Amino acid sequence: MQYRELIKGEEKLSVLGYGCMRFPQTNGKINEEETEKQILYAIKEGINYFDTAYPYHGGKSEVVLGNILEKHNMREDVYIADKMPSYLVRTDKDIEKFFNTQLERLKTNYIDYYLMHTLDSLAAWERLKKFGMIEYIEKWKKEGKIKHIGFSFHGRIEEFKKIVDDYDWEFCQIQYNYLDENYQAGTEGLEYAYAKGLGVIIMEPLRGGSLSSNVPDKVKKRFENYSKDRSPAEWALKWLWNQEEVSVILSGMNVLDHVKENMRVASETHPNSLKEEEIEVIDDVKEIYKELMKVPCTGCNYCMPCPFGVDIPGAFSAYNDKYFFDDKMAGFKYVGFSSGITGGKESGANLCKACGKCEKVCPQHIKIIEELKNVDKELDSKLMRFGIKVFKKIKRI
Ligand code: SF4
Ligand code: SF4
Repeated sequence: MQYRELIKGEEKLSVLGYGCMRFPQTNGKINEEETEKQILYAIKEGINYFDTAYPYHGGKSEVVLGNILEKHNMREDVYIADKMPSYLVRTDKDIEKFFNTQLERLKTNYIDYYLMHTLDSLAAWERLKKFGMIEYIEKWKKEGKIKHIGFSFHGRIEEFKKIVDDYDWEFCQIQYNYLDENYQAGTEGLEYAYAKGLGVIIMEPLRGGSLSSNVPDKVKKRFENYSKDRSPAEWALKWLWNQEEVSVILSGMNVLDHVKENMRVASETHPNSLKEEEIEVIDDVKEIYKELMKVPCTGCNYCMPCPFGVDIPGAFSAYNDKYFFDDKMAGFKYVGFSSGITGGKESGANLCKACGKCEKVCPQHIKIIEELKNVDKELDSKLMRFGIKVFKKIKRI
């Protein structure tokens, strides 16, 4: 494992951070046994940065991480990053309540890296300041309850710069990967924050997994043209670690093989080590993706649950798949999974009532209502949906 200083002169963090947003699950619940195995393996192999947040896994991510570290007496062996759920703060008392809950859940009395979660504008930060956020975090820092202060960001580059300039942050966390160079903070934001002395943590390095799994044939071919042994995930991670401004990359690894594979790449890639022809491969792949992608959904699930039952990320994933793979069966598959034929609830784009709840929280600022109409138009078959309804009735599903 390689280590880089996130904040100049401070502790060295493993370049691969463990994202606790996507722990392995069984029947919709965290599989604690499997999670424990993976976390212990990761620590043994040198990962020392664990990133969680108040809402991950409905509040259970902090709890499970805290339990594992306590059980193995490993709290001192790792750095924990956690986040104030900014969007839930309504009064100054909320701030204290959330923070104390987090310490309790994590079974610790300090958090190493504490972030304002998912700020999208200076206004969002101003709102927190009105509740006395600065006074709270600085007090906690003085008391040793917080070691470093930062923010995570999903918004436009102009707003990112304003937030960076508004406070003496030590670090920030941005979405960044080879498809998002000009999206949200992007390369400009990365370089801006770095030049101002902030450490930069990277989230969504594989764009919610879309850069590693279900990779379009055209992309695969371009990669394989260069080397048959390098996976698409490896290309995406190498592209990031090649940049000296990047310190820690967070990866939500829910399969042990992913942990192992990412750790191998992490130990092999150094800043400015990619050859010119390798950069060219990535440039070609970017172009291919741009031609194929319909909706920039990362599958983060912030928009869920929809009060009317729409599986929003599922709809966009099916929609993108149709274009990534030129899949003629995409509509058939989509109606199949969204009609609840196997016993689940219906979850198709056709259920959208345009209430707007999801659009307010989507960090990618996707026009969800409009895009769902496109999904409905291009993927849905009313005849097939009707047929499935009749079938379900007969079979009493
Ligand atoms: S706008 Fe549509 S998809 Fe979004 S929350 Fe409302 S009903 Fe659900
Ligand atoms: S639509 Fe937006 S909020 Fe919902 S999963 Fe996709 S990126 Fe996340």
